[in-house]
Amino acid sequence: MKALYPGSFDPLTLGHLDLIERGASLVDELVVAVLQNPGKSPTFPLEQRLHQIRVSTAHLSNVTVTSFDGLTVECARRHRARLILRGLRAMSDFEYELQIAHTNRSLDPDFETIFLSTAAHYSFLSSSVVKEVARFGGSVDHMVPPVVAEDLGRFFNSAFHPPSR
Ligand code: ADP
Repeated sequence: MKALYPGSFDPLTLGHLDLIERGASLVDELVVAVLQNPGKSPTFPLEQRLHQIRVSTAHLSNVTVTSFDGLTVECARRHRARLILRGLRAMSDFEYELQIAHTNRSLDPDFETIFLSTAAHYSFLSSSVVKEVARFGGSVDHMVPPVVAEDLGRFFNSAFHPPSR
């Protein structure tokens, strides 16, 4: 059984990582697929997000990391994954996630979306919350893997203190 876990991961949080670890324990292979959305300008470039996830999942032998643009079902088909993994934090996620799951099944009924509930202690975590805390100099060490904490520090430090010419 192979599953695809698609998302923006801009950046990866400990909530995402918890989902990856739990998802990977349920299937033979888990492919984390990072969305390269040309319509959105991400905080971290695609290559950096891929690196963050590769480093943070190096201990998981059945997890691979890839990128995609376009439809999630096309990506799942390319990787021969019949399951799409998504996470649920709160009711607010549910409506959005259900809509996406129905849309994907309307495009191809061969795919099933499975949802894992968030770990309770990470239920408040989102990529945007993490960026908001880092922007104002708060510690994010309990919210993101070390490689992401370093990248966030570097990003917001240079945004506030651009190198003088
Ligand atoms: P997207 O832009 O596709 O929503 P995200 O990177 O924000 O991408 O999230 C990817 C998936 O991970 C979504 O299903 C989201 O609900 C889930 N997720 C995000 N944060 C958490 C968390 N703290 N705990 C569990 N699942 C989460």
